Amino acid sequence: MEATAQQILKDYYGYDTFRTGQADVIEYVMQHHNTLAIMPTGGGKSICYQVPALLNQGTALIISPLISLMKDQVDALTAMNIPAAYVNSTLEAAEMEWTMQQAEHGAFTFLYVAPERLENPRFLQTIRHLSISLVAFDEAHCISQWGHDFRPSYRSAVSILDKLPERPPVMALTATATPQVADDIKRLLQIDEDHTVRTGFARENLRFQVVKGADKERYIFDFIQKRKHETGIIYAPTRKLVDRLFQFLNRQGVKTAKYHAGMSEADRQAAQSSFIQDEVSVMVATNAFGMGIDKSNVRYVLHYALPMNMEAYYQEAGRAGRDGEPSDCVLLFSGQDVHLLKFLIENSASDTQAEYQKLQQMMNYCHTQSCLQTYMLNYFKDPHIPEDCGRCSNCLNEFEKTDMTKEAQMVLSCVKRMNERFGAVLVAKVLKGSKDKRIKQFGLETLSTYGIMKNRTEKDITQFIHYLSAEMILAPTDDKYPVLTLTDEAVRILKGEKKVMMQIVKATDTAEADYDETLFEELRQLRKELALAEGLPPYVIFSDAALKELCRFVPHSEQEMLEIKGIGERRMEQYGEQFLQVLVQYEQSQTVPVQTKKPLLQEKQDTPSHLISYEAFERGSSLDDIAKDRDLTPLTVSNHLFKAYADGKALDLEQFFSEEQETAVLDVLKQHDELPRLREIKEQMDVPCDYHAIRAVLVHNGILE
Ligand code: ADP
Repeated sequence: MEATAQQILKDYYGYDTFRTGQADVIEYVMQHHNTLAIMPTGGGKSICYQVPALLNQGTALIISPLISLMKDQVDALTAMNIPAAYVNSTLEAAEMEWTMQQAEHGAFTFLYVAPERLENPRFLQTIRHLSISLVAFDEAHCISQWGHDFRPSYRSAVSILDKLPERPPVMALTATATPQVADDIKRLLQIDEDHTVRTGFARENLRFQVVKGADKERYIFDFIQKRKHETGIIYAPTRKLVDRLFQFLNRQGVKTAKYHAGMSEADRQAAQSSFIQDEVSVMVATNAFGMGIDKSNVRYVLHYALPMNMEAYYQEAGRAGRDGEPSDCVLLFSGQDVHLLKFLIENSASDTQAEYQKLQQMMNYCHTQSCLQTYMLNYFKDPHIPEDCGRCSNCLNEFEKTDMTKEAQMVLSCVKRMNERFGAVLVAKVLKGSKDKRIKQFGLETLSTYGIMKNRTEKDITQFIHYLSAEMILAPTDDKYPVLTLTDEAVRILKGEKKVMMQIVKATDTAEADYDETLFEELRQLRKELALAEGLPPYVIFSDAALKELCRFVPHSEQEMLEIKGIGERRMEQYGEQFLQVLVQYEQSQTVPVQTKKPLLQEKQDTPSHLISYEAFERGSSLDDIAKDRDLTPLTVSNHLFKAYADGKALDLEQFFSEEQETAVLDVLKQHDELPRLREIKEQMDVPCDYHAIRAVLVHNGILE
């Protein structure tokens, strides 16, 4: 069975290796065991049920509560020439009848159904006559009343299994199952522990960041500017804020769509579809957006404010990077966010105490100094907590600490002198020395703190006050117009017993793309046109990851194109020719011949690429030989070795450089405040030195990992 499953993976999906857990799930189902797969979003659950269904005869019944996801899945299968259909309330009566008739004849390999449909006698009669390869319960947590999204109709769907003449293997798939929910699913669907596969919640391609005290609109705008060709979602807590951000971004020339529950159904649909079709790249939305949206190439999710709890945050942020490509999740935190949430909790019907506790844990996420991913995984009681992620803002220590004690004392003493009776705006005005009439009205211009921060803008001062609130040095009250009060921490700072070290995000360049972005744009454009013509979402044709690989390797023939990860024979037949044409034209238009490389044959996933290089080096091969054998550049190979060294492997770094070279590199560094690029270092050195040596010196001295 292994070889065939492998073949399907390659032919249909264009992948050489299964991701963690996939092969186990497929094997259990092929052995006719009921199976539960708990894998994170983007972990590749679809392949877990699609591969066995393609290996078996008959129709696979996929039960899914998310109507929009069904269409995406059916589109994706149809794009691979696999017969698939869905039955749900969006179908017109005639379409429904046609689909049912086709289904009755076993015309579909996949039939997606909404749980409610299973109570329909006509539907039941149809499937009783069908040969069913498997029944998959997607989003299986909805079956459990302990789940955060319990749907009673989904639970009744379980009884369908007793009505079938023969019991096919049953699968349950979910990304979010607490132990209690998992137990419930297993009991209801008769799945035993031996056939439960858990791969943990960690999403290795996501980079989490918490940013405090930023001018949020500015931050968002700058962030988007650096990622003009990428797609992202910005979540804001209220409709009003969504409208405001939407206007702001469009005014700045960023093509933006918006989505919230106050818009008409038609407007929401239009917004959603322009986002899915890549017509706009940014979506500003409340949390009403996203459920059932399976856009795999979302490169970033920004949160304008604190979400209510970690569950909501992980779900929303997790909409980034479903295709496995590196993606960013940034939470912009300010102390004020908390008021709105407290208000919502007070006015909700749920258990207030429990909600407050969850909010507190959400705030702790913003204040923790340790790895953000580890914090989340602990929160979700993940049984497989990996090492610290090495990617999040805490791991990378991307903040510069600046001593702001003096400024903090100015603010705090001003708050004190104003008798803790005013909000951030007025405090900022006093510090700035504003002529606002309210200052006169309250006689605040006579305070000794009036105008002591006149060199700063009012906006800056307000921002700083928000930072002090985020750090719980100031405590705004829970009123409609919050008043600033001092905490014990503030008192200590005023007495000079404690310092305020403000964390400021270092200006980081976004990494330079290692592929031609113009070509990527051309391929994206072609994909968009094809998608529009066929009424498909673009990423169903080829993923962003596959397009980037095409730009890196610029294949010349179908054969070469099939070597690209993510391009299988099925979609190659459908769309390959047109993409090849663009690639060939591109190559002809280049004055310098394009350095095409045969794509790296995908390595076995068990051994990471850098360790393959390391092992070869340890066996005595030279950098150049390894590079030749593995179709890499020698510099990539030496980077592999250094990465292995960072992983704790033994490596004598000094073999790569001489003492003289080390001194020369370090001398160059002394002249720079920030680490220069390798090329600059090389140019400024007074002894000859290659890049391997420079890098090795940097690693040896702990400057680079
Ligand atoms: P989930 O349903 O678990 O959120 P999907 O099934 O949508 O995840 O898969 C997410 C992405 O991962 C898709 O783009 C899919 O093509 C890709 N993927 C799945 N399995 C593999 C694999 N074995 N190798 C590479 N990519 C994969």
